[in-house]
Amino acid sequence: MNAHAPVATDLDIAYRQHLDAVRADSLSGRRLLAPDGLWLAITKNCNFKCIGCYREGMFRKTYVSVPDVCKMLAESSGHAYDYISLTTGEAFLHPEFCDIIEACRAAHPGAVIDVISNGSIPPKGRFRKAVSMIDKLGLSIDGAVAETFESIRRGGSFVRFFENAREICAIRAETGFPKDLGFSFTAITRNIAELPDVVRIAADLGVPMIYAQPMEMNHPEIIAAPANFTSHTCPSKRCIASRTRPAPLARRWACASIWQAI
Ligand code: SF4
Repeated sequence: MNAHAPVATDLDIAYRQHLDAVRADSLSGRRLLAPDGLWLAITKNCNFKCIGCYREGMFRKTYVSVPDVCKMLAESSGHAYDYISLTTGEAFLHPEFCDIIEACRAAHPGAVIDVISNGSIPPKGRFRKAVSMIDKLGLSIDGAVAETFESIRRGGSFVRFFENAREICAIRAETGFPKDLGFSFTAITRNIAELPDVVRIAADLGVPMIYAQPMEMNHPEIIAAPANFTSHTCPSKRCIASRTRPAPLARRWACASIWQAI
């Protein structure tokens, strides 16, 4: 016996027995792997041309039909999904968006229905109904002032976004949906200084969450014109970020220093 061999604890033995049981179940076909959730790409359409969008130029006015969505939902073989994401292009442009959400609810009542939207469609009529059926809604905001927002989210209007976000907050106060509402902020050197003001806008409107992520440097304008992205300072001149050096553009990620700046 090797005197230096580690002694198996009760926990080690229990863990080993658990792995053996999992292996035996898998080999006998009793344990089947199934996904937790489903990502349904219901349209290829979008009304924006954001810089950095990996789908820009590939948009088509194609929409998956409700019967086809129902078929995809039924292919779970009885497995209940924990979440269903409808994020794809701009999902609110799908003419049968409400029917699709209802089909998801009917097929997988326990699933969290999740959408990220550009916030361009006023939440009126059937769009209001759609908002009131979504569990988790992210609204993409990449600037705290119109000039920045509209230069990144091309085709968008900051004023319209702001009004729609305000209306969505009112729907949430009235219906309780979306249960989770947040702003999605994709950071580049041009807009990082405005992140604190985006947080202030969220607080003023009653949007409880901000999700910030760096933009992948996949757009020629971001890669080739660093001068455009290094001269900006936050117009409010109040935030810490406005006094921080811009992120180094040599890095693959445009805003690798995001967490140092905020
Ligand atoms: S809103 Fe989304 S899908 Fe549309 S262009 Fe912008 S990033 Fe791309």
